[in-house]
Amino acid sequence: MKKVFIVVPCYNEEETIEIYYNEVIKYLTGDYDYNVCFVNDGSKDRSLEIMMSLAEKDKRIKYLSFSRNFGKEAAMYAGLEAAKKAKADCAIIMDVDLQDPPHLIPELLKSHEEGYNLVFTRQKNRHGGSKLSAFFSLSFYKVYAFVTKDKGMAQGARDYCLLDKKAVNAFLSIKDHERFTKGIYHFVGFRQKVIEFDYAKRSAGTTKWNFKKLFHYAILGMREFSRFYEYIPKVAAWVVFFLLCFDTGKGIYNAVQANSYYAFDWNPIRIDGLFLILFIVLFYLFRLLYDVRKQTQRRPIYIEEDSNLEEVEENEAE
Ligand code: UDP
Ligand code: MG
Repeated sequence: MKKVFIVVPCYNEEETIEIYYNEVIKYLTGDYDYNVCFVNDGSKDRSLEIMMSLAEKDKRIKYLSFSRNFGKEAAMYAGLEAAKKAKADCAIIMDVDLQDPPHLIPELLKSHEEGYNLVFTRQKNRHGGSKLSAFFSLSFYKVYAFVTKDKGMAQGARDYCLLDKKAVNAFLSIKDHERFTKGIYHFVGFRQKVIEFDYAKRSAGTTKWNFKKLFHYAILGMREFSRFYEYIPKVAAWVVFFLLCFDTGKGIYNAVQANSYYAFDWNPIRIDGLFLILFIVLFYLFRLLYDVRKQTQRRPIYIEEDSNLEEVEENEAE
């Protein structure tokens, strides 16, 4: 029987855990061996207590608790590591607030059986949030796609997804400390599919995100998966270059009009020239920094999909 490991990050979710449990168990159907693993991300409320009592009455329930709040990304990583240890055939990541509808679980598994390694979910319609947040969200995906050249990123995809064994291993092989999961999915490749669903409201409690957190997360994504910082001096250098051309043209025009070489104004040209050199130097410095970062991140150079080479035991002692 195939093992399915459901990872559920929770941060201060005492109001939602039981509601989630009662709902999700309805969909743990079919010929699978299920585990639901709550990851308690340093909650300060009764979340852990509730997980423990559920685990006591239902053997399929597992939990894992952090010493403090490490963020959802860390919780997802820990959950997938647990899935690997449990030798699960696939893992499903989902929120506890029922915004990731459990009724999609059979559909996710069906896509898995069809051979997809990564199955995402996306809301068909945007949530009832403000127009401004919709605007920022859309702009983010546009800018992100541009700077990372990631055309395929499931635009607006939620973290609710299924990863098979290969995708889990690939995901875990990326040890970035500041994790941007959507970028990691794009990086690992494999066969990916998106399932759409209607927006669902939070079952209880409140969102753990705010504008500041989301903004930092967006910047993180672009920084980690693109040459984002190089764009800043690059754009600046181009702007200064056009200024230089303009000032030179203006100088020549003035000199011709006055019919005198002395009417050519060198001052703006000097300033433009200096800034141009500065931004070009900065650009190369940022590029160097990028290379150093990539080296220290120690991301895998490639991710294997298949081979008939003999399996080598992974060196865990690293
Ligand atoms: N979460 C977490 N750690 C955090 C923040 C959130 O594990 O630091 C969990 C949270 O408990 C929930 C999921 O991540 O299960 C999504 O959070 P939330 O519903 O607040 O986000 P939104 O749906 O508003 O984007
Ligand atoms: Mg939510």
